[in-house]
Amino acid sequence: MKQFQTPRGTNDILPKDIEKWHRIEDVVRQFCMLYDYKEIRTPIFEDTGVFKRENDSSDMVNKEMYTFTINGKDSLTLRPEMTAGVVRSFVQHKMFGEGDLPAKMYYIGPQFRYERPQKGRQRIFHQFGVEVIGVKNPMLDVETIALGYSIVSALGLSELKVLLNTLGDDESRNNYKVALKEHFSKGIDDMCGDCKRRLDQNPLRLLDCKVDHDTEIMRTAPKMGDYLNKESKEYFDAVCNGLDALGIPYEIDDRLVRGLDYYTDTVFEVVSTNDQMGSQSTVFAGGRYDGLVEYFGGPELSGIGFAMGIERLIIALEGEGIDLSEDESLDAYILCLSEKASLEALKIATMLRAAGYTCERDYLNRSFKAQFKSVERKNAKFAIILGEKDLENGTVTIKEIATQEQKVVASEDIVDAMDELNDNEEHECTCGDECTCGK
Ligand code: ATP
Ligand code: MG
Repeated sequence: MKQFQTPRGTNDILPKDIEKWHRIEDVVRQFCMLYDYKEIRTPIFEDTGVFKRENDSSDMVNKEMYTFTINGKDSLTLRPEMTAGVVRSFVQHKMFGEGDLPAKMYYIGPQFRYERPQKGRQRIFHQFGVEVIGVKNPMLDVETIALGYSIVSALGLSELKVLLNTLGDDESRNNYKVALKEHFSKGIDDMCGDCKRRLDQNPLRLLDCKVDHDTEIMRTAPKMGDYLNKESKEYFDAVCNGLDALGIPYEIDDRLVRGLDYYTDTVFEVVSTNDQMGSQSTVFAGGRYDGLVEYFGGPELSGIGFAMGIERLIIALEGEGIDLSEDESLDAYILCLSEKASLEALKIATMLRAAGYTCERDYLNRSFKAQFKSVERKNAKFAIILGEKDLENGTVTIKEIATQEQKVVASEDIVDAMDELNDNEEHECTCGDECTCGK
């Protein structure tokens, strides 16, 4: 028989590891709520045109998309990122008309890119990200960076570096592109194939080349800072001032251009400096985009966002020795010591669960010893034993594992008995003389 495995570049997230994911998602949702962001869920695939925009020079669009057609119909693509889909949705649902701009949205979900798999780089990976659409104000750029930074800090990351740059407005960027083109034309024959293609298509993207990164021609390239017009410079200064005011440390990296074509003004990357990260060290990254809403047929409105790779975040957390797995325990495990006890266990488990107690039971009619092993493995606080005698008398025996104390109660009183035992447990405090609990 054929044994299937996960396709190359994809992973199962197993139940034993899911706690970490839940912790991260909890922190994400909590912070997004504090910053007044609402979740958006868009389709996993979109019309290919949503991602593949005219003249796009990025690798993601040109080499990494999972594109398909069904029954000869229009081309569809599994989303490689979320910004395009969210902006499409913003325009489709005319969110710009809802007042109270900016629209502040966040998402969590899988993305698909046909890349060479390596540590921190998969073909299916998960992103949490935000988009703030409708207002261009440098304080929003600052808050967006601060939100991502607060989340990774709250999870415990400290080995972080914020890299910041500006791509300026259209005028500044166009002047800069002319200067870059002139500079790189001199040495283009010695540069990689991608660089040759980018020289005409988008010379900014040459700065992002992974092959020719450390060559002399790269090091001597003109700097964006020298081509910013007054507005672009003031805008960027305001972003820097805001980050200073919040005490978020950053470095200006004038070669940071980001992998996608639609960015304008502020761009940033937050990198883990932990040595476990290898070359995939960016935990989250993003920037402002001025033309995208209009591209999708909406009004001329600006947006800003970032995306965080959750798998990369987990690698960074593990690199810093931060353990997110919580000590999972069960309130009660029910031991069934006869066939007859099974129905009774069903009823008791249902009562306990309805009252909010986590509860599991034996389904295999195993030996007492084997069932007690499950109590230990599942770290249950109480063992609820249904022996022969209990069945005859309509009772259950509750054993508190920590104290090894046992108590027999009528089956129908199980919830009251558990409430009482749990109250007692809570009152095993050291409040001493100042205790006001009355016990
Ligand atoms: P890179 O330069 O690493 O390819 P990118 O510029 O393609 O990154 P974005 O599209 O901005 O990255 O995605 C934002 C974040 O999503 C990245 O910083 C990273 O944390 C994560 N990410 C991107 N691609 C992958 C992938 N293939 N596997 C895992 N995480 C990824
Ligand atoms: Mg990439």
